[in-house]
Amino acid sequence: MALRLTARCFRCHLRQHRRLSQHFQSQYSTTSSNQDNDYADIVISGGGMVGGSMACALGNNKMLKNKRIVLLEASKDKGDYVLPNSYSNRTCALSPSTRRLLESFGAWQEIEALRYHPVLRMQVWESCSDSLITFNNPDMTDSLAYIVENDVILAGIMRALKAQGNRVEIRYGTKVETFSLPGKEEDNIKLPYVGLQLSDGSELRTKLLIGADGMNSAVRDAAGFHTMTRDYKQTAVVATLVLGDTTLNNTAWQRFLPTGPIALLPLSDKLSSLVWTTTPQDAKHLQQIPADSFVDAVNDALWHEREKNPLAGQMLEAFKTVVQNVFPDSDPSRQLPPTVIDVQEGSRAAFPLKLIHSSQYVQSRVALIGDAGHRLHPLAGQGVNLGFGDVECLNEVLGEAVRSGADPGSLTPLLRYESERQRHNVPVMLSIDGLQRLYSTEFTPLVVLRSLGLQATNSLSFIKKKIIEQASI
Ligand SMILES: Cc1cc2nc3c(=O)[nH]c(=O)nc-3n(C[C@H](O)[C@H](O)[C@H](O)COP(=O)(O)OP(=O)(O)OC[C@H]3O[C@@H](n4cnc5c(N)ncnc54)[C@H](O)[C@@H]3O)c2cc1C
Repeated sequence: MALRLTARCFRCHLRQHRRLSQHFQSQYSTTSSNQDNDYADIVISGGGMVGGSMACALGNNKMLKNKRIVLLEASKDKGDYVLPNSYSNRTCALSPSTRRLLESFGAWQEIEALRYHPVLRMQVWESCSDSLITFNNPDMTDSLAYIVENDVILAGIMRALKAQGNRVEIRYGTKVETFSLPGKEEDNIKLPYVGLQLSDGSELRTKLLIGADGMNSAVRDAAGFHTMTRDYKQTAVVATLVLGDTTLNNTAWQRFLPTGPIALLPLSDKLSSLVWTTTPQDAKHLQQIPADSFVDAVNDALWHEREKNPLAGQMLEAFKTVVQNVFPDSDPSRQLPPTVIDVQEGSRAAFPLKLIHSSQYVQSRVALIGDAGHRLHPLAGQGVNLGFGDVECLNEVLGEAVRSGADPGSLTPLLRYESERQRHNVPVMLSIDGLQRLYSTEFTPLVVLRSLGLQATNSLSFIKKKIIEQASI
């Protein structure tokens, strides 16, 4: 009996000792070996398109080859992706610079082997006046963008990640439950790492936590970053549409209506992806009506001649005459949008739209990327492209930090990432927000202003060239 008690006490003592030493190690240790299973140099929370590509870029970065990288994704592993015959209703227009980034770690090659559709021309016009703008590269060979289903983008990224072997450890079905961030803990000790308690009961310590966990980012909340939010009180209705004619279908169409823009993005010779921004009431109605009424509503939104603003019309005509005298090679060419004949069954869905911007992207040992840092209106198809830009920049900054012997989670390199990305992202967000406001009004002076602006831009090929170049970055 005495012997058993002594043995129990000894085991208790041993457990207590282990707990204390783990606590000590986790609180005060600055160096941890890669053998330590509770330690990772970099943890990415969120394995969506942006988090997945961050993992790929870091796994491919020679400067980080000795670093342990862990990717946490809340959803379950869906196994190997099998391309379905029917197209998904969630798509993104990817820019040429996103393509270059994805190519750099082999994900674009995987996407090419699955499916994508190039956009060679864009036409944007509005219903309150006859103004329009078209974009294309002169020889119609270089793509302006690529329309890819979100599932295909993610599958391409995850295949490229798996092709790196076990370079990055992926933990599906795992979320961070509790964060201990430097400067935020009760005793105010500046931790040399971030402590994470995971939903599977395990713990992780890391030099750098990257939040790629989307618009409702838990990492952003834990870091206490202030966010600027604007509810657009608009909803995007998406669907997969069947077109009347089989064509090359390489134009992206967008028409601004008083309730919001409607866009058709080419998916194949016969199919286009719809992103129709409208009021929440309209969106609800559009989801509920029978398929043929929905198709009629889409055609009406694209084709129906609405009441034009007479002042904008007169000023536009006068303006066109002036521009054509000054710039005889100006390009006012207008094409007619396609006719929609059907909607793929079950493809209608709706997404409420919000602007969210985190005032900070970083603090010591924490960085935000993608929608975790910025969520924008889809009218310019820039959301995930900005996220991929974050990936490219953060990967470069971390590689340089490690090459110069710095800790990847230290604030100086992270601040460089933040200022570079905010310099790029904030103006893009502000101009998209401005466009949204400008096109949500029928107030005559603004209708005139935007019509002339659109027409002027369309008439001046050098401005359009600049816009195309800028959109490709
Ligand atoms: C209608 C519509 C059309 C759009 N069209 C375009 C377009 O044409 N071009 C474009 O560039 N952008 C477009 N966007 C924007 C684009 O969809 C988003 O920018 C993009 O999905 C953001 O990707 P992300 O990886 O940052 O976030 P998400 O896609 O939200 O991924 C976040 C990931 O994190 C995981 N996660 C969440 N919380 C946790 C947690 N606590 N722990 C672990 N994992 C977690 C989620 O499961 C998810 O996998 C569009 C958006 C909408 C709504």
